[in-house]
Amino acid sequence: MNKNSEMIIERIKLMLELRKPKDTALSEIKKQENWEPFKVLIGTILSHRTKDEVTSLAVERLFKKYRNPKELSKAKADEVAQIIKPVGFYNQKTKSIIKIAKIINEKYNGKVPRSLDELLTLPSVGRKTANCVLVYGYNEPAIPVDTHVHRISNRLGLVKTKDPYETERELAKKLDKKYWIEINELFVRFGKSICKPLKPSCQICLLKELCDYYKANYIKER
Ligand code: SF4
Repeated sequence: MNKNSEMIIERIKLMLELRKPKDTALSEIKKQENWEPFKVLIGTILSHRTKDEVTSLAVERLFKKYRNPKELSKAKADEVAQIIKPVGFYNQKTKSIIKIAKIINEKYNGKVPRSLDELLTLPSVGRKTANCVLVYGYNEPAIPVDTHVHRISNRLGLVKTKDPYETERELAKKLDKKYWIEINELFVRFGKSICKPLKPSCQICLLKELCDYYKANYIKER
């Protein structure tokens, strides 16, 4: 791992410590007493194109009624859709989560698989979701690359990649494994509060002198 990536992680932690942005939906699930990998899996699917606050509420309501894969596998689709509404694409997500609950109940004896390959065989589960289950559900080192992780890694120049899968591969080469579990949460909170998609708050950012985006957009102008 190069020195810069270590410094970047430490400075992001410092900025988050100072600004204290809200937890993400997944870190909230992880903090709950009744947290479990199945909840993380369903929460990650519901979170797609949905605000964190909406996801957290939907997960809470859903698990109050259906406490495990067996119960959710037997649920009626229209009832589930009403419960998770207004998450984005709630009808589509309803079908996926009931299907996933059935597979987990029947094929995996009610336990969410712990391997990336098995997770990827589940419907609607791509690399980001599977890696989220490993990190937030099982505390296993993995790098879930969502839009924040992809954007920030490229802006900083940690990677120069076109898609999230490439970003995951490159970050895996550059980042010490001890940072894998925390990088998603750190980058998501940093991306929502400072390095935002449209107008990053570069003037208050402690990473200016390490950041390719800042150098290209501000230093050149002087
Ligand atoms: S300097 Fe700007 S673009 Fe670079 S990491 Fe900080 S906020 Fe993001």
